[in-house]
Amino acid sequence: MKKTVSVIGAGPGGLTAACLLARRGYSVDLFEKNDQVGGRNARLEIDGFKFDTGPTFLMLLSLLEEVFHELGRNLEDYLELKRIDPLYRLRFSDGTDFHPSSNLGVMLDEIKRVFPGDEKHYLKFLENEGRKFDYIIPCLRVPYSTPGAFFSRRFLRALPHLDFMKNVYDRLASYFSHEQMRISTSFQAKYLGMSPWHCPATFTILPYIEHKWGIFHPIGGLNEISHTMARIFAEEGGRLHLSTPVEQILIENGRAVGVRLQNQREIRSDSVVINADFAYAMTQLVPERHRPKYTDAKLKQREYSCSTFMLYLGLDKLYDIPHHNVVFAKDYHQNIREIIESKVLSADPSYYLQNACITDPTLAPPGKSTLYVLVPVPNNSSGIDWHREKQAFRDKIIAAICRNPELRDLSEHIEVEKVITPADWETEYHVYQGAVFNLSHTIFQMLYLRPRNRFEEFGASYLVGGGTHPGSGLPTIYQSGRISSDLLTADLPQKF
Ligand SMILES: Cc1cc2nc3c(=O)[nH]c(=O)nc-3n(C[C@H](O)[C@H](O)[C@H](O)COP(=O)(O)OP(=O)(O)OC[C@H]3O[C@@H](n4cnc5c(N)ncnc54)[C@H](O)[C@@H]3O)c2cc1C
Repeated sequence: MKKTVSVIGAGPGGLTAACLLARRGYSVDLFEKNDQVGGRNARLEIDGFKFDTGPTFLMLLSLLEEVFHELGRNLEDYLELKRIDPLYRLRFSDGTDFHPSSNLGVMLDEIKRVFPGDEKHYLKFLENEGRKFDYIIPCLRVPYSTPGAFFSRRFLRALPHLDFMKNVYDRLASYFSHEQMRISTSFQAKYLGMSPWHCPATFTILPYIEHKWGIFHPIGGLNEISHTMARIFAEEGGRLHLSTPVEQILIENGRAVGVRLQNQREIRSDSVVINADFAYAMTQLVPERHRPKYTDAKLKQREYSCSTFMLYLGLDKLYDIPHHNVVFAKDYHQNIREIIESKVLSADPSYYLQNACITDPTLAPPGKSTLYVLVPVPNNSSGIDWHREKQAFRDKIIAAICRNPELRDLSEHIEVEKVITPADWETEYHVYQGAVFNLSHTIFQMLYLRPRNRFEEFGASYLVGGGTHPGSGLPTIYQSGRISSDLLTADLPQKF
């Protein structure tokens, strides 16, 4: 008899684990509440305009390639990947535009043009952060299920390079003399929904990763990765149940024994893999008596990432601006303090624009284009009433975008649009507090101190996704799927 596994959620983490386990011969049922796979990485389609709901930067491609390799497949056979270079356009309020590149020669010329003198410091940055990356990456490949993991040779060798006690901004400021160059290499802490002034300096590897190995866009959007994984899952004999919300994880004698669906059917299985947002899953799917470490009150006290206000615009024209664009507030530090500390809406917000059709015309009808707008905002612990603020904030962001000379006439060219607010992330996407980048990556919520891949509260259960180790972001989420599948395979070997 095949061993059985129930997976809750077909986001990137759940799909990775489901594919790997099905490939290894487990009998896998994957339950997804929505009518399509992907979760925050789902496709959003409005009248022929196709958007990625969430992730738009694919980095550290090698980790995804490794997953496909383990599945006995080549990534390139399934996805057409475009390298985006220059990586993005960074625009500052004084009119400075900076176009970082993953091509070293191009990058050094660009630094010389915009931030003269910092090009030699950039070489030092690459050298030091590269060394750090080489120590850290092996630590992200293994679980931290016991305190003993901290005494492994691997971890002890990496320890001096982890820079837990410094923050991303201070570490990078020590390389560069131009303030805007410092911001250009530290804003990536926002990929974790954190402030560069608080995020542990361990994560200076984020700018290094994109500068060294680049950023990719799969034709059709990043959601193609999730749809491809769903196909592979079916090819490996897995059973995907769309529009099938799980209501509760069944726990008996301290072990997960299956799930109860919203339609009241009970599915028994040998193990359960949880991909639904961690704090949501705990508060909604697990009776409190089974999670003393993660009671509602304790979860509330944890630190969470910021949220995002999203605008998806279908346009009747294509603007000639780069694929990825970041526009910084005049006082970026103040903007970050407002998002993370005072938790209010900034008068002058920073925002990100994705003009994907400049690379990928498949996303819109001929002659038209999509514009994806992401504005980092406080998570829902702010108490902001988004029903009241939504329209005014939308208008403010459109007005801000129209202040870019190339986009002055944007309002006249919007054919369709959709807004997702932090309140929507919480109610429609089941993301606790709308904190879309999960639990913050503070030193108290990383490695052994993050909810563990082999879940510590009850047996036969495994976490995958941004809420567990190694953390938020697609490459690490794919890695969480691998780590948890390996643990499950070790705990519940198949007997053929
Ligand atoms: C706006 C935004 C931009 C981002 N940009 C990037 C980026 O550029 N690059 C990057 O690497 N990362 C990015 N991320 C971060 C991260 O990579 C994605 O959020 C990723 O999709 C999270 O994957 P996951 O598997 O952890 O969770 P999810 O994608 O949230 O998957 C969880 C799944 O569980 C399902 N579910 C929930 N409750 C139930 C239930 N009761 N029953 C059944 N199913 C349920 C959900 O519907 C969902 O499909 C971004 C995130 C957001 C929100």
